[in-house]
Amino acid sequence: MWACPDQIQAETPHENRDVLVGVYAVTGSASGMGHMVAQKLCDAGHTVIGVDIKQADIVADLSTVEGRRAAANRVLESSRARLDGAVLAAGLGPGPAGNRSRLIAQVNYFGVVDLLNAWRTALASATRAKVVVFSSNSTTTTPAVPARTVRAFLADDADKAVRSVRLFGTNASTILYAASKIAVSRWVRREAVRPEWAGAGIRLNALAPGAIMTPLLEEQLSMPKQAGAIRSFPIPMGGFGDAGQLADWALFMLSDAADFLCGSVVFVDGGSDAYFRADDWPRTVPMHRVLHYLKRFRHFSASGPTIASR
Ligand code: NAD
Repeated sequence: MWACPDQIQAETPHENRDVLVGVYAVTGSASGMGHMVAQKLCDAGHTVIGVDIKQADIVADLSTVEGRRAAANRVLESSRARLDGAVLAAGLGPGPAGNRSRLIAQVNYFGVVDLLNAWRTALASATRAKVVVFSSNSTTTTPAVPARTVRAFLADDADKAVRSVRLFGTNASTILYAASKIAVSRWVRREAVRPEWAGAGIRLNALAPGAIMTPLLEEQLSMPKQAGAIRSFPIPMGGFGDAGQLADWALFMLSDAADFLCGSVVFVDGGSDAYFRADDWPRTVPMHRVLHYLKRFRHFSASGPTIASR
């Protein structure tokens, strides 16, 4: 458990706004990168409301609708419906068969989207709120993730997403994990630019780590089949990433330096994505998309700048 768990009982959580102290919700605060983020925010004097299935200010199971609703409401109560930021780090990695795919779908995708939708007004109530969603470099380095699985997530159909990967057998949870992170990244990019988010001064972005040494990675390394693939996976910088360093990236994305960051997916992965996909991105707008591009251009000009001047 991190060091300042009593903070949410503070009578006036926003009292110190003049000295740039904020109130932040952090999911996955009991372990790994979420834990490090919560600890570093705390050390910087911020108020942190941790959410996790264990050892947290708000203990809630984000794999259920009721758990997500309870977590969302309790954070709103504790923050008095005003949040300077949120970090969505709760998640599960690929693992043993059985229930794992369902849990990945519920926590990694709906555990982000449902909470952020519930917190949007509270985020808009703060000045220049920032949100960091934990994605993954599995989004671009896991081959053959079916487009229909990603579509099922974006259509809020968890059962269909889980069904659609069954044919992958023992690799189903690996494919579903990547699909959940692609879908959540796409959700971030789609929503970030809308008037409800950018227009309300909320900066919504994703952080995409590579293999980072946390209990999640340790679990994967304890399974012989997965361990072989992880240990031989190309990482140009070598070794595994450090949870504290990833937390520093998240804090940077919560800081004033990130005021102009919107809808970005920031890869911090030791170079694996660049190794596999060097020429895939940035990409020019292909000829068959130019009409769509011009429509978006005109739509923006017609509706005026979406970002509030704050
Ligand atoms: P971790 O296992 O150390 O922490 C994840 C936290 O999520 C845990 O505290 C766990 O209790 C919580 N959680 C799991 N199921 C939950 C549920 N049903 N309800 C509430 N909380 C629940 O993992 P981590 O490596 O720190 O991962 C943080 C995020 O980063 C995850 O979203 C993960 O997918 C992502 N990520 C991790 C890596 C990596 O290599 N470690 C790489 C890319 C992305």
